[in-house]
Amino acid sequence: MPPRHHQPEALLAALSASRGRADRLTHTEHLAARQARYAPWPDGIRPEIVASAQALGIEEPWAHQAEAMKLAKSGQTVVLATGTASGKSLGYLAPVLSELLDGTEARNGRGATALYLAPTKALAADQRRRAAELAPQRVRAALYDGDTPPQEREWVRQYASYVLTNPDMLHRGILPAHPRWASFLKTLKYVVIDECHSYRGVFGSHVAQVLRRLRRVCERYGSSPTFLLASATTADPAATAQRLTGLPAVAVTEDASPRGPLVFALWEPPLTENVGEQGAPVRRTATAEAAYLLTELVERGTRTVVFVRSRRSAELVALQAQDQLGSPLAARVAAYRGGYLPEERRALERDLHSGRLLGLASTSALELGVDVSGLDAVLMAGYPGTRASLWQQAGRAGREAQGALAVLIARDDPLDTYLVHHPEALFATPVEATVLDPDNPHILAPHLCAAAAELPLTEADLPLFGPSTGQLLTVLEQRGLLRQRTKGSWYWTRRERAVDAVDLRGSGGSPVQIVEGSTGRLLGTVDAAAAHTTVHTGAVHLHQGRSYLVHDLDLESSVALVEPAEPPYTTAARDLTSISVLATDTTVEWGEARLSFGSVEVVNQVVGYLRKRISTGEVLGESKLDLPPRTLRTRAVWWSVTEDQLLDATIPFDQLPGAAHAAEHASIGLLPLFATCDRWDIGGVSVPLHPDTGLPTVFVYDGHSGGAGFAERGFRGAEQWLTATRDAIAACECERGCPSCVQSPKCGNGNDPLDKAAAVRLLDVLLAGAPGRSAGSA
Ligand SMILES: [Zn+2]
Ligand SMILES: [Zn+2]
Repeated sequence: MPPRHHQPEALLAALSASRGRADRLTHTEHLAARQARYAPWPDGIRPEIVASAQALGIEEPWAHQAEAMKLAKSGQTVVLATGTASGKSLGYLAPVLSELLDGTEARNGRGATALYLAPTKALAADQRRRAAELAPQRVRAALYDGDTPPQEREWVRQYASYVLTNPDMLHRGILPAHPRWASFLKTLKYVVIDECHSYRGVFGSHVAQVLRRLRRVCERYGSSPTFLLASATTADPAATAQRLTGLPAVAVTEDASPRGPLVFALWEPPLTENVGEQGAPVRRTATAEAAYLLTELVERGTRTVVFVRSRRSAELVALQAQDQLGSPLAARVAAYRGGYLPEERRALERDLHSGRLLGLASTSALELGVDVSGLDAVLMAGYPGTRASLWQQAGRAGREAQGALAVLIARDDPLDTYLVHHPEALFATPVEATVLDPDNPHILAPHLCAAAAELPLTEADLPLFGPSTGQLLTVLEQRGLLRQRTKGSWYWTRRERAVDAVDLRGSGGSPVQIVEGSTGRLLGTVDAAAAHTTVHTGAVHLHQGRSYLVHDLDLESSVALVEPAEPPYTTAARDLTSISVLATDTTVEWGEARLSFGSVEVVNQVVGYLRKRISTGEVLGESKLDLPPRTLRTRAVWWSVTEDQLLDATIPFDQLPGAAHAAEHASIGLLPLFATCDRWDIGGVSVPLHPDTGLPTVFVYDGHSGGAGFAERGFRGAEQWLTATRDAIAACECERGCPSCVQSPKCGNGNDPLDKAAAVRLLDVLLAGAPGRSAGSA
């Protein structure tokens, strides 16, 4: 075997050395190695725990872990927001397990209890193993989820001191049956909320209300647990923790864990000869580019993982690299598609570690199942959506001394374009906040019902559930769901379980079930709100990385019948949307322009869909659909400019629709940089003359009833957000607009009209009056 050279700088130089490649490397960031900083074990951490940690090779905790332990011991709500592999679990486990050990000395052996919440069952199972490694057996840790057999559940309620579960189970199983959990709840000292950045949007808002219900029930049993949260690094984790728990929180953010040096490159694939919608040029896909880079890295004997979005792409990248490599190296590249048996996963791990396998293309499923740390290089085909996932993926590269290479390859969309041209958005202070809006009345109302069913609601409970509670109680009374038996005390009136009305991971409205027609197997569900655009008849639907063709969407029974299929095209729905302002909460003036936040009604009708070739984005044809309009009441941020401003920006009236539409698209594409949403969680409308404002107006709204906090975050960070939007459009080298800047894959209008140059002028004139701008340039 030839000697392997994995110096990341040398690798990167080699990758970009080929002809024409140099342009594609838009930025190189050198992340220096970080030395570990240690601190002594804080008081109150039991010697048994310290001994177990030391047996595992942890002599002393890192400084941030020790800090979190101290705060936890003092009863402070704390959020530990540090990087991947920074040992967040030990930070909360040491104080929690110490407390539980103290509790084993009580007469019944359970003087203290703790609850652990994870967003997935797999993570909870993993955490139970960690607890078992650290604490003696008399601390009884047990999983409690949908898979726990009924005969074991009673044991968990009566004897377990550390119960690991998920928010869904807390909502559906534990809280409604709280009398059976009385002895556990009475002694509840800690609630651990792991991976708390995943509680965002509608799901996060639901979880926030479930936690308020938990706090209320605990209070009834005389306990007041301390909340310990673990989060990826985001903007303002303390504020998020506070919004989630309703309690003031302290954040520990200074990461004291060691890190090897990392060279992080940003890479933009070239424009191709192919044309997409409206004749726009399209870039080479991120997956095709990743396959090229993977080929070269494997040729150099570099152990590399490529992260892609879907299983199908994983296969494509692996196949393409194998083709380019030829034998014998082709045999050393594989695709990882999830759904493997544990022994298959272990075999894969072994092969990667030993270097028998050099290249692996994978969906992020790998993040949960296989340990692939210590790689030479990581390629990411497209921004994975959040900084947390980005660092989780990049963090797979790196061995202590040698250093490693990570490459983010831009996909053809405005957010990726922006990021590869604005490295500070990735490497400086995070701007992306975990967004949730527990005050949304559509979310709060069913939790008030659930809370009333758990214990009658009283006036003393009102502050706990937020400012709109009083008003909502009246509405729920009028609807006959709650009744006041005595003044100021509300009861649930129905026979059915109040909790069954809420699916924490749905957004209300009965979700559409995706059923495989030939087998009758239920594959999953999509929100009612998204069904018309994503699972209409004829749609190609990706579900957990697999591709299906929708044969029929039956709205009466809320079922979409699908069959596995891999047609050479994707589909994009066409729709008509109108929007009206119901109430304006806040308006700020930016010079002559105005920026507002408030409630809107959006009426949307899906009228057809396009089929686009996967490899090139070329439009193959269009079909009509006959679906009813849908009405959505939600929250929006909107901005308008005056006629004088249009004159200043030299935008004649015939360019205005294209300018506003292009600005709207790009701004939707960029919002996920500031709010942890997906481009698909939000929508937009641009109107040359809107009846409610009397001016040209661009709206961006939350795609869920009542809102999920995304539009609000856009409003609060409007100047940064719209500046980034402007810069993303301006940075794109295309001439007249393309998917990397102003075209949107979810445009209901076939990306017509769009005017890239006028959009930049429009945003310039809008931003000229923004507070930061006018102060800075004066
Ligand atoms: Zn472009
Ligand atoms: Zn559009």
